[in-house]
Amino acid sequence: MDNDIKNAVNYIKSQISGMSSDDRTEHHNSQKISYDKEYKLFSESYDKGVCYLCNKSFLTISKNNPCLHWLLRRCKFKKKHFKSLYEKYDYYELSAFLHWVSAKEKGSKNINNLKEEMSERKKFEITIKWKNIEWTLDCSHNDFIGHGGSQTDFPHWHFQMRIDGKQFINFNDFHIPLSKDDQLKIMLSEDKESGFCHSFGYGGFGMQETMDALKDNFDIMNEHLLAGDAENGTVHMQSIITTTDGSKIDAEVINDARAMSQKTDKTMRYCLDKILKDNKNISRTTIASPSEHVPDIAKRTERKRR
Ligand SMILES: [Zn+2]
Ligand SMILES: [Zn+2]
Repeated sequence: MDNDIKNAVNYIKSQISGMSSDDRTEHHNSQKISYDKEYKLFSESYDKGVCYLCNKSFLTISKNNPCLHWLLRRCKFKKKHFKSLYEKYDYYELSAFLHWVSAKEKGSKNINNLKEEMSERKKFEITIKWKNIEWTLDCSHNDFIGHGGSQTDFPHWHFQMRIDGKQFINFNDFHIPLSKDDQLKIMLSEDKESGFCHSFGYGGFGMQETMDALKDNFDIMNEHLLAGDAENGTVHMQSIITTTDGSKIDAEVINDARAMSQKTDKTMRYCLDKILKDNKNISRTTIASPSEHVPDIAKRTERKRR
């Protein structure tokens, strides 16, 4: 590992721990303002089919100005052009763009960044879908160190791109260098004491952020989730109702809740809460899990080192 990066990690850790809570709030607020501004520009341009980075239509490609919108493949982007993209944009920049376009279309449900589905051998392993395209971003601990062989002996990551389910870029086609800034962010995120937490913001929430939010603020999320989201979309919610005094639950209650859910598009859990709110003899448990519509993480098989 580069000594520069180690020093930078320590420097940032000391900066963070030295900040007063006022400093933190101020830092957070100024970051939020620039984030909001950038996201708004992205979102408004996106709605017009225009890329906010280069200000050109998604349908265009100009070889002397490589741009991340090529990855949407609305232009004549070819595999051989990919190198010019990662030479210009680092991992976090590229990843942020893919998170944003995917979330813009379908919310978090097409971004599988679930930690429990990620292999322990990985620094990151994320599959993102957007329309007919699927990208997987993958970096093992070995890649991060730089695995053997003179061609690959530097910190890097791997990328797979499928169009209509067919391979377009394979994991082994490129060993994409991690920038110093990438390495710094990865190391800081792994360091539990650093106080550093990386996210692509509300514009790029994946399933992990959604499940975390659901765990932390179940009641708030329950108010806002739509039945369509809960049952076919992002999260699968299963409600279990039991009585605490052994009495039977009136089937009518369930039917009423179902009718209310259909009418209002609120989740079953939300409707049951409303209907049963005065009934003290009932206990409700909800199990929330990522929906089966969330894409699987496309797994890369690593060659064994000799
Ligand atoms: Zn562009
Ligand atoms: Zn590798």
